[in-house]
Amino acid sequence: MIGISKRIAHGDQKAISLYRDLYRVPDDVLARFIDPLAIVRHFSDEYQRVMRSCGISIDWRRRFTTVDPQYSRFIEWQWKHLREGNHVLKGAHPVRYCPQCDNPVGDHDLLEGDKAEILRFTLVMFRWNDAIIPTATLRPETIYGVTNLWVNPDVTYVRILMDGAEWIVSREAAGKLSFQDHTVEITGEIPGKELIDQAVSHPLCGTVPILPARFVDPDMASGIVMSVPAHAPFDYIALRDLQTEGKYTGIEPVPLISVPGYGRLPACDAVERAGIVSQDDPRMENLTQEVYGAEFAHGRLFDRYGGSSVREARDSVASLMVDRYGSLPMYEFDTRSVVCRCGSRAVVKILHDQWFLQYSDPAWKEQVVALLERMDLVPPEVRAEFERTVDWLKDWACTRRVGLGTRLPWDTDWLIEPLSDSTVYMAYYTIAHHLKTMPTGMLTPEVFDFIFLGRETPGLPERERLDLMRREFLFWYPYNFRFSAKDLISNHLTFQLFHHVAIFPEPCLPRGMVVFGMGLLNGAKMSSSKGNVFLLEDAVEEFGADSVRMFLVGSAEPWQDFDWRNELVTSTRKQIDRFMDTVLEYQPGHERQEDLDRWLESRLHGRIARTTEALERFQTRQALQEAFFGVESDLRWYRKRLPPGSAGSPFLKDLFSAWVRLLAPFVPFTCEYLWKELGGEGLVSYAPWPVADSGAVDSQVELSEELLVRTVEDIESIVKIIQFSPSAITIYTAPSWKKKVFSMVAAAEDKTTVTREIMKDAEMRKRGKEVPDAVRQCTTLIHRLPPQIVAGLAREIPDELAIFSDAAGFLSREFSVPVSVSDAGESTHAKAAFALPFKPAIVIE
Ligand SMILES: [Zn+2]
Repeated sequence: MIGISKRIAHGDQKAISLYRDLYRVPDDVLARFIDPLAIVRHFSDEYQRVMRSCGISIDWRRRFTTVDPQYSRFIEWQWKHLREGNHVLKGAHPVRYCPQCDNPVGDHDLLEGDKAEILRFTLVMFRWNDAIIPTATLRPETIYGVTNLWVNPDVTYVRILMDGAEWIVSREAAGKLSFQDHTVEITGEIPGKELIDQAVSHPLCGTVPILPARFVDPDMASGIVMSVPAHAPFDYIALRDLQTEGKYTGIEPVPLISVPGYGRLPACDAVERAGIVSQDDPRMENLTQEVYGAEFAHGRLFDRYGGSSVREARDSVASLMVDRYGSLPMYEFDTRSVVCRCGSRAVVKILHDQWFLQYSDPAWKEQVVALLERMDLVPPEVRAEFERTVDWLKDWACTRRVGLGTRLPWDTDWLIEPLSDSTVYMAYYTIAHHLKTMPTGMLTPEVFDFIFLGRETPGLPERERLDLMRREFLFWYPYNFRFSAKDLISNHLTFQLFHHVAIFPEPCLPRGMVVFGMGLLNGAKMSSSKGNVFLLEDAVEEFGADSVRMFLVGSAEPWQDFDWRNELVTSTRKQIDRFMDTVLEYQPGHERQEDLDRWLESRLHGRIARTTEALERFQTRQALQEAFFGVESDLRWYRKRLPPGSAGSPFLKDLFSAWVRLLAPFVPFTCEYLWKELGGEGLVSYAPWPVADSGAVDSQVELSEELLVRTVEDIESIVKIIQFSPSAITIYTAPSWKKKVFSMVAAAEDKTTVTREIMKDAEMRKRGKEVPDAVRQCTTLIHRLPPQIVAGLAREIPDELAIFSDAAGFLSREFSVPVSVSDAGESTHAKAAFALPFKPAIVIE
């Protein structure tokens, strides 16, 4: 917020246009944005307004901001406990830092490079006359294979006095080193060209020349690199290019590492195998990673260089260089262009009196690992990412000099930074509405100790109110699930686990987390800096809140990315209109439709059960499939099956009541309206959720109806293929001996011996070859049918002759021709022999 308000105060046009044009902040409000608190107030009001317009049910009494004075008292309490647990330490650490804001910068403070990591390079000190030319490397062990240095001939380097010694580095490097505990004074310039062909030396590799290379980036570490062509693909190809021009032909790569899968010169193997001809080939980056990775994992230094693994040598050679040859560390980002929200480039700075949350502490990590093991994570695949984060997490710079927030209670020059003061506020929500009415002076650590930890202290004020708050906290805590987006796994979602285990007792520790996917807009990542955003408010305005909601929860499960496309939202809106028409147009009928009603009721209760189950697991898409599209298709079939002129039975009234309640969480505005139209009491949002009655589920009735559905589909597809218009349809149902075969095949665990089993029966033996044929056909059919249908058939094969005879009138109406039904066993028609249980033979004439 401070960064934004500074940019606006400085008249930064990009920032102003972002808020004025994209977020449509009125001019008079924007003018107040030079006060960061005005930004906080404006956007929290805006969010509340838009959330309400979406029909999202939120207890707004609990709304607060992290700059409320009561919240600051809570943070002071939290940090008192963190400090007592030895989780906050002071030390010197490299951090991402904005020189303009004079502050460490976290992920949320960055305009670009928000995932940037800090790398630790070793500066290798090459001597050139009286000066030092430091090359920066992540692989100090390869010093033994250095054949030359690379300098960019187009770059003007600078001479500096670095802590009193003369160095030559890029101008960018001089700036960076000055933030890393060094005094740096620029004393002159030297063009890269003048350094070419000079000789430099290092005790571990002897004297080598400086060669020109345009791939050397002056903005990367020291701006000068050492060349190890045997093991670095970039070095290899750059040297090869010079040598093809007939230059430096005397230089030979010097190998020092053996690695399985590669020959004497791994870099050469990799480049030649990939057929790379130019340094600019985009595959070079991957190739480099591939060689480095293989050597780090399986490489071993030659015996004459000590014979240890690359993994060990990397550290031992680095310490040797530091102890004996003057090497220093240099910190650098792994990503180019790391830019603060204020618009300035961030640097790596060594901070000394900085406070850190000691996430590197193995004992603390151990507690979080143990908690994670017990937690319910949705979707389960995120578990590995949480485990990786806990493992990898290093100490975190948790304070800053300027900004909004709470001051560190014991060192008030510092403010607690946002990712560190927003870790256990879920606990604060449970009592936020009470705290608002309490004077901040009363909110001592002892008061919070009582509310959150149940710890008694003599003389606590307002005991009754505190008891109420304690009960309310325990009502909500431990929380069952925390919901957040997947890009917060690497910080917030993991941090909050660290803080919970540090402060709360075992029975109050978190139980689960649900991790959300991200929103895409027309296939691309939404990004306010790139202008690729569609404001929720505009979406609601254009499509209506219900269409937006139904699209968001229905187009993907919450943990999958959703892709907003206007045309898809338009079709969602049409689906909602269709739902409304269906419910509104219904005029109650009076006749019960025995079997058909039983079927519809059975279907509905199955859908209620599956919708509820899906929602319990946060599968909103799955739930919507059942509750919306599932019920809709059942209704469509039901209407098709009604006798001509029938409006359906009174049961439809119950169905619509349940349907509207099932869909109320998805499309509340539509459902409130329909609920009223149906004569429902009060608001549908408060109406009881439909309860699945397992007694209403009748799998035999469902099976019979399913047989009809499938037969209608079969007839439709045959009618499509035949060249004539049908005049009659005959359905042949399977004879009883085939039902017996089907049941035995369905029940058989070993399908290979089932024929022999069946043939033990004398009646079957009489049928001869027909039986093995039927076994084969039934086996194929069983593989194709959904398992729940096979299970139903294994229990009881319905009386197909009766089903089709009852439905003959319906089928005749459907296909506008007479439909007759016979038992295939009593027919001599050649096609009747194909009849199988649940797959009658169909003859169209
Ligand atoms: Zn800044």
